[in-house]
Amino acid sequence: MYKFYMPTKVMAGQHCIKKNGKELRGLGSKALIVTGKSSGRKSGALQDMIETLTEQAIDYVLFERVENNPTLENVTEAAEVARANQVDLIIGIGGGSPLDAAKAVAVLATNNIPAIQLYDGYEHHPLPIVAVPTTAGTGSEVTPYSVMTLKNMQSKKGFASEHIFPKLAFLDERYTEMLPLKVTIHTAIDALSHAIEGYLATRRSTAVEYIALESIRLFAESIDPLKQGLLSLEDREKLLRASMLAGIVIAHTGTTIVHSMGYNLTYFKGIPHGHANGLLLAAYLKLNQQVVPERVGLILERLGFSEIDQFAQLMELLLGDEVSLSKAEIEQYVEISSRAAAAIANTPSPMTRIEQTWMFEQI
Ligand code: NAP
Ligand code: FE
Repeated sequence: MYKFYMPTKVMAGQHCIKKNGKELRGLGSKALIVTGKSSGRKSGALQDMIETLTEQAIDYVLFERVENNPTLENVTEAAEVARANQVDLIIGIGGGSPLDAAKAVAVLATNNIPAIQLYDGYEHHPLPIVAVPTTAGTGSEVTPYSVMTLKNMQSKKGFASEHIFPKLAFLDERYTEMLPLKVTIHTAIDALSHAIEGYLATRRSTAVEYIALESIRLFAESIDPLKQGLLSLEDREKLLRASMLAGIVIAHTGTTIVHSMGYNLTYFKGIPHGHANGLLLAAYLKLNQQVVPERVGLILERLGFSEIDQFAQLMELLLGDEVSLSKAEIEQYVEISSRAAAAIANTPSPMTRIEQTWMFEQI
């Protein structure tokens, strides 16, 4: 038995916003554009969107203050701007942070509730969402998830709702050209992590497993350009496609303990999201090889490797070797990620404190 649901219309290709401006018609008459401090402008996506909205006679206001790993306070601030301006459409432009913030704002704009209640459900339909990724990693443009930082939990937490799938996503690889190499690498590894976790998940679905393997293959084709730090627009298109496909995968399977454990590294150590996942992936494959060896074997094959150690070496090469964790830090992180019951249940290998501790020790 499986379920497949993907309500986002994806328009991909260079200049896709300008070429498909009419797609925005009917979605709303006044938009709030939600973006980061620099990502909207540096990528060129904000300019393209503003020109297209103007052509389509859609009014807009701007919120350019989304933080990396946005907090509840940050999305509350943006939602106040949305309500004060009575917008009826939310456009997220940026990496996963602005896209996830846009989703939370779309809900809070129609539900005047404290942001913490996003996790407990809400009454009114959110505003329609348009997503323009400027990183190739989270796949948030095609997922029903929004992840935010919760200071009181000392961690990050996502909420999920079918209503926050973007209605429309514009994928233009040109927008990722100005990404610093490190961000390109980290975000590519986030996408890989989604494909691997989704492929192995206990909630895995036959409907998306080939999508996961195709996403992994696209990553594999990008390994040399990532190593050399030289990415053509064609390479960038592949990574953006890999990210979108991996987003479709996790939209169906959810993520696993890798993401939950990684949130500690981001919250306490400031390690970017994709980097955090990448530090844990080789150990994760090793544990799961004992439980689902054929599936781990297929992942390695798609990556062009025969052993997990080759993969571990690639991660070390791409991510560097600067992170070290003390015993006390590991204990604290395991305490927190042990609460992630759904992610633990979604991991084929047992994930008691012993396995989690071992995974952190491999960093
Ligand atoms: P990000 O936090 O959105 O952005 C990282 C950095 O890259 C920021 O400094 C950003 O600048 C900059 N940047 C973005 N696009 C750029 C461009 N085109 N040119 C130059 N700089 C650019 O990173 P991310 O990895 O894409 O997103 C991570 C977030 O997504 C995390 O909160 C994670 O939990 C979440 N996530 C969500 C899902 C989901 O399904 N919803 C899945 C995985 C991860 P600005 O500061 O100006 O924005
Ligand atoms: Fe992720």
